[in-house]
Amino acid sequence: MRVVEAFGPTVQGEGPLAGRVTHFLRLGGCDYRCSWCDTPYAVDPAQVRQAENLSDEQVLDRLDALAPAPLLTLSGGNPVLWPLSERFLDGLRWRYDRLAVETQGSRWREWVGRVDSLVVSPKPPSSGMATAEHRHQFDRFMSRAFLHPGLALKVVVFDGADLDWARTVHASHPRVPFYLSAGTDIAEAAHADVVAGVAARYGWLCEQVAAEPDLSDAVVLPQLHVIAWGQRVGV
Ligand code: SF4
Repeated sequence: MRVVEAFGPTVQGEGPLAGRVTHFLRLGGCDYRCSWCDTPYAVDPAQVRQAENLSDEQVLDRLDALAPAPLLTLSGGNPVLWPLSERFLDGLRWRYDRLAVETQGSRWREWVGRVDSLVVSPKPPSSGMATAEHRHQFDRFMSRAFLHPGLALKVVVFDGADLDWARTVHASHPRVPFYLSAGTDIAEAAHADVVAGVAARYGWLCEQVAAEPDLSDAVVLPQLHVIAWGQRVGV
């Protein structure tokens, strides 16, 4: 598999595992092209081709070389594009207390059912990816995922249109734990005053959600990793 990054221990910055110590395994390749993607180096085919192409054993060796962490987060790109083997999953299970995967929910694979935490992050209108076809893919994915005990939904929100869209996602899956993340402008994230921008959008999002009975059970968070590290890679 194309490994763009294997790093940690660090702390998960958003979603249901926010604040937990984790390793990240970032696999290359993505079937979306979100306008505000914060990991373009894991999406752009030319850059992904430059990433190391590692065997299962080599990936496990890379993870073993890191200081220990209780959790492994499989991320991307879209890690679900990769057909991970049973043996590889067993190797990960043996090493970690908990496995998590983050995906936009465009494609199902059986191995996704074997992780402990399945964080599905469908993309709202501001990403440019909220097409009818992608909604159909997401609905198909959720028809497979809805019984997963560790399933959670997370929507990144930049504006009112995104929040309206998030509300429809939550209404379609009202029993699935629902997380909202105030989005970060990628140009701003490289800037020294990134925290002010994050705080402003988080404040706006909190006020919107507090006034919205349909979202009263949502968990609203800023992207904590941006507050800590801006757009730094490998943390
Ligand atoms: S789905 Fe995620 S990794 Fe893929 S382009 Fe969108 S934000 Fe980037």
